[in-house]
Amino acid sequence: MVESRTPAEVAAHAGRATDLIDLDAGVAGCFACPRLVDWREEVARTRRAAFRDQEYWGRPVPGFGDPAARIAILGLAPAAHGGNRTGRIFTGDRSGDVLFAALHRAGLANQPTSVAAADGLTLCATRIFAAVRCAPPDNKPTPAERDTCAPWLHREVELIRPTLRVVVALGAFAWAAWWPALRAGYAVPPPSPRPSFRHGAHWSGTAGPELLGCYHVSQQNTFTGRLTPGMLDDVFARAKLLAGVD
Ligand code: SF4
Repeated sequence: MVESRTPAEVAAHAGRATDLIDLDAGVAGCFACPRLVDWREEVARTRRAAFRDQEYWGRPVPGFGDPAARIAILGLAPAAHGGNRTGRIFTGDRSGDVLFAALHRAGLANQPTSVAAADGLTLCATRIFAAVRCAPPDNKPTPAERDTCAPWLHREVELIRPTLRVVVALGAFAWAAWWPALRAGYAVPPPSPRPSFRHGAHWSGTAGPELLGCYHVSQQNTFTGRLTPGMLDDVFARAKLLAGVD
């Protein structure tokens, strides 16, 4: 596995990825953000008591889902004891419980749960990835970490561009991360001024996929009722309609 240890190596390595398998291997071998590398490895070493007997993944978390996705779900970053533990995005944490239950209700996932990388979950016409591929302390990547990681996202968008029709941005961070990806993947300049994030926002341009805004499926939103299952169902019903998914 070729490792990336600097922002320039990330950009070069991502740009060379010929397919999603190649890209995913490159993501998993990335060490370009010292703070995040330290954090993901420390979490994997110390572990949460409930998972003490488990081997944590402790590395960057690649995208997951259908390589011919018509719908992409863009999140912020893996959770320390979720994706950073299981090696699959939104897998093994409360946010994933909410997200995959909704995807299953929408007919976009074959099962309503996502607990481990080998649990048999498959997605239909849908791919999930994060703007930052390593778990950050307090779920807060720095702007420099966001920018260093962006080439992985941009190349992933390029690779699924032939089928991609709709992007669902989970939260304001993902919404903001989409505009550079649009430029990189479709050579489309971001709109000016850029539309603000809000739940239910819908943006479409002259090229590239439609963009939908959705509150993040974090416990902060779902436990407080700010984001309800019904609201998620509405977002995915709209995404399916726009993407032409039955
Ligand atoms: S956040 Fe992205 S660029 Fe930084 S180490 Fe992780 S995978 Fe690499």
